Amino acid sequence: MEPGTLVYDPQTRKVGEYQDRAGPYVMLRPVGGGREWQADPARIRAATREERLSAGVRAANDRSREGFVTPPLTEADADRPPVPVPGCATCEELATRREEARAAFDPSAETDANVLLRQHRRREHGGAPTGHRIFRYVPYTIVQDASAQPEYQAYCVSGDEADCGASSGPCQAPGEVEEWQRRHTQETWHTRYRRSFADYAVFERP
Ligand SMILES: [Zn+2]
Ligand SMILES: [Zn+2]
Repeated sequence: MEPGTLVYDPQTRKVGEYQDRAGPYVMLRPVGGGREWQADPARIRAATREERLSAGVRAANDRSREGFVTPPLTEADADRPPVPVPGCATCEELATRREEARAAFDPSAETDANVLLRQHRRREHGGAPTGHRIFRYVPYTIVQDASAQPEYQAYCVSGDEADCGASSGPCQAPGEVEEWQRRHTQETWHTRYRRSFADYAVFERP
């Protein structure tokens, strides 16, 4: 297995980056960094796209709780592909991985490469590109308003003729939204949702 591959560990119910083998175990690192843990190589499996995304969202939220201004990572961020920083080997590698995915018409691998590149940029290069953008004409910066909770919401778009329309309502964490989706799917067998994220931003004097 390639180091950096995102795998799901059923014992801890967490997604981690595969690091290396260590005796009878494999070492996994939390997405977004942190203390590595040992997992049973016979039980881990490749993380699904959903798991990878929600692990990324959780890691970004952990960081924002720790006081960083970087806004939580959402699928909406995928609209703006992150740009590699020239001269950085990791950026280059992830950008190459993205190019290969694009060339192979593999959109989910392309999304993964974008998620990883974005996380790496935030971690290693200060997260300047999206989180804390300098406004060109007025000497202000735009930051996420820490006094207002970001909102996560899912809306059921299953149905042949029209969308079902059921909604989780605004939630304060992506986990609550997922919980609502699981319940709704269990009750209705509906499987397709539109999810959204909203936060508040304010202009601040530098
Ligand atoms: Zn880099
Ligand atoms: Zn529904």
